Amino acid sequence: MKVYMDNAATTKVSDEVLDAMMPYFKSEYGNPSSVYQLGQDAKKAVKTAREILANGLGCKEDEIYFTSGGSESDNWAIKGVAESLKSKGNHIITSKIEHHAVLHTCEYLEKNGYDVTYLDVDEYGKVNLEQLEDAITDKTILITIMFANNEIGTIEPIKEIGEIAKKHNVIFHTDAVQAAGNVKIDVKEMNIDMLSLSGHKMHAQKGIGALYIRKGIRIPNLIFGGAQERGRRAGTENVPAIVGLGKAFEIAHRDFEKRTEKIRTLRDRLIKGILDNIPNARLNGHKTDRLCNNVNICFEFIEGEGLLLLLDAMGVQASSGSACTSGSLDPSHVLLAIGLPHEIAHGSLRLTLSEYTTEEEVDYVIEKLQAIVQRLRDMSPLYNR
Ligand SMILES: *Cc1c(COP(=O)(O)O)cnc(C)c1O
Repeated sequence: MKVYMDNAATTKVSDEVLDAMMPYFKSEYGNPSSVYQLGQDAKKAVKTAREILANGLGCKEDEIYFTSGGSESDNWAIKGVAESLKSKGNHIITSKIEHHAVLHTCEYLEKNGYDVTYLDVDEYGKVNLEQLEDAITDKTILITIMFANNEIGTIEPIKEIGEIAKKHNVIFHTDAVQAAGNVKIDVKEMNIDMLSLSGHKMHAQKGIGALYIRKGIRIPNLIFGGAQERGRRAGTENVPAIVGLGKAFEIAHRDFEKRTEKIRTLRDRLIKGILDNIPNARLNGHKTDRLCNNVNICFEFIEGEGLLLLLDAMGVQASSGSACTSGSLDPSHVLLAIGLPHEIAHGSLRLTLSEYTTEEEVDYVIEKLQAIVQRLRDMSPLYNR
């Protein structure tokens, strides 16, 4: 059995999305800037995708900019605000559990004269609103806090953060790459000024994303060239990818409640199955304010890499809280930020579901995991049987 449970890393392109994209590789290959019919048809397809995103987020069409993905959107938003508001101030507030696209951008800005406050989070991964408000100074130009965390699935109090930002007249950007499609988002109601999302986390392809920029917010153009994306990010549009992103977003919002409830039920079955059957295991992240598809568990006396290899041998594809595979022995900054000691953080496992996950797969993972954890513990000198 092959079980893909790493949907926070990337998702498969759904058949419906691929079908929607196909014509734009073949018969509908026009350049949206061309005046003849073929070009105008492509332009219309891009417009339709933009409308779908705008409707889903509660903003206007001309507030959506297509980018190459979540990382580009995060970079553009943060560096853009930093540059455009440098005469007003040099202070940025973010959290310790952001994606590296945000953290490394902030670190880059720190080397260039900006001050960055990295807010702590509690044991469940939530930022503290009082600490956030206390951190704001008259030099603060940007708050960038993620909508939902990619490792532990915790959903942040976005509306409340938006209110605080608005009250202090500070721009609020949120990385909603994991939330988009899984959580209902209304940028107006939540006072979000800028929002990043990405296609490949919601069954569209890799290399396409979007940045919502509220009208009135001025940031420098990202790419100079033609008039695409209202001149702010030039370059001939990736029409098939944009069409796919629009379709994926539409599908995610069609039957939203039913789809997310189905995934949530499987998530809870997986969590319960693991915690009931495996001793010395604990759920990371928030119990209820949690992405419907995220399971993150730490197992004491276990090393995450070993766990992943044995799971892989059983056909289960998942991810761990240590970054050994990427050449670093440091445990995840997110797990450290919620207060896990190094050795426990190393023994954590992330399983992320999708609408294609089945009950059989969940039960298979519970069964295999039980045996694997037992086997690894039997080999561990630290574990007292
Ligand atoms: C995946 C991810 C990103 C990066 O998106 P890409 O499209 O891969 O560049 C940014 N933030 C979060 C929270 C993510 O999960």
